[in-house]
Amino acid sequence: MANSDRHNTAVAHVYKGTFVHSTQQTALQILEDALLGVDTEGKIAFIAKGEELEKLTQTFGFTPSEVTQLAQHEFFMPGMIDTHIHASQYSYAGTALDMPLLEWLNTYTFPVESLFNDLEFARKVYNHIVKRTLRNGTTTACYFATIHTDASLLLGEIANKFGQRALVGKVCMDRNKFVEHYKESIQESQDETCRFIKELLNKKYPLVKPVVTPRFAPSCTGALLGQLGAIAKNNNLHIQSHISENVEEVKLVKELFPESESYTDVYHKYNLLTDKTVMAHGCHLSDKELDLFRQTGASLSHCPNSNFSLCSGILNVRNVLEHKVKLGLGTDVAGGYSASMLDAVRKTLDASKVLTIQDREHGTLTFEEVFRLATLGGSQALSLDDRTGNFKVGKDFDALRVNVAAPGGPIDLIQNDEPKILLEKFLNLGDDRNIVEVFVAGRKVVPFTE
Ligand SMILES: [Zn+2]
Repeated sequence: MANSDRHNTAVAHVYKGTFVHSTQQTALQILEDALLGVDTEGKIAFIAKGEELEKLTQTFGFTPSEVTQLAQHEFFMPGMIDTHIHASQYSYAGTALDMPLLEWLNTYTFPVESLFNDLEFARKVYNHIVKRTLRNGTTTACYFATIHTDASLLLGEIANKFGQRALVGKVCMDRNKFVEHYKESIQESQDETCRFIKELLNKKYPLVKPVVTPRFAPSCTGALLGQLGAIAKNNNLHIQSHISENVEEVKLVKELFPESESYTDVYHKYNLLTDKTVMAHGCHLSDKELDLFRQTGASLSHCPNSNFSLCSGILNVRNVLEHKVKLGLGTDVAGGYSASMLDAVRKTLDASKVLTIQDREHGTLTFEEVFRLATLGGSQALSLDDRTGNFKVGKDFDALRVNVAAPGGPIDLIQNDEPKILLEKFLNLGDDRNIVEVFVAGRKVVPFTE
């Protein structure tokens, strides 16, 4: 057995300590005194019990002195996956939360997004958001940029530079009666989407890919939605958009697409619901629409901070899960004011508790379930679960090294708490001071090297 030649790649790093993650069967699995090896390609080579160290050193060709031992109160967890975030709205995050969705878009969002024809402004904002999300533990982000192709390409370049796994979308919209200059013609939208996809794929970034991005049905004509559905299909690409966020919007979609049975039906008709589609919100979807999500394999991104901040609604996550629809969490910056996925975790718990206050029969989500949604659930929602989401041999090592007792951090540990309690405290009380290292595909990306 002790023959490292059997393995195509040697291990580059070995870590020993507590690992917490989720599986399909178990919302929270805790591995104490475990060993995890990462190969030279950044993939998980093995996960084993600490007592197997000697055998593993022989099989994988490393010495015990090369093993990185986690300190007390530290653990590794999978990197978090933000399934919905507008990189372009980061400059006004934490402000402008006093209006419902459609007014909010016209008053704050469209004027700011139209500034991204200035590449220097774009560079400034995109550098900040990629760094901010990475240091808060977002190893994978599904980004909306703006309608500007070159600035959207720049976002891909910056995510690649800092080593974040990302889906990047150039926004498409050929309808905007409020801010006339912030839209495209259908031809422009189609041509620029094709240019964006081609140029981004030509960069051959290992972790950054394009995602076809109709903003949402009210800002696209049926003709454009149809073109985008065809582009996604022909290139086997991811798709992202918004659905059923607030009731005014649902009403507007009914008026704009009278031939469609439902909001979900609009996207379905134009081939925009696939197993690589993620739709943000879905607060007001009917059970019948959820069935269509399940049948097509499309997923939902739950963005509770945004839903509260813009008074949009409260998604019943329990009902979505019971319909076997894939679901991840999103920050939805800047409708959501926080770029941290830890905030998305907390707001998801809060939203579930509000539903329980309204109906005692509602099955409140547990913190273990929400932990799974922020990690494995997100990877499934983005159809990236073959690469990331948990600690499984063969997947990329996307991980956070968490020190619950980080000096100067927000958590005071009074007693010798078990790992499950440490995770719960981190999720509820922690922040980036507790995230001492971040790894994406085996590479340490936080602390930053520049
Ligand atoms: Zn959004």
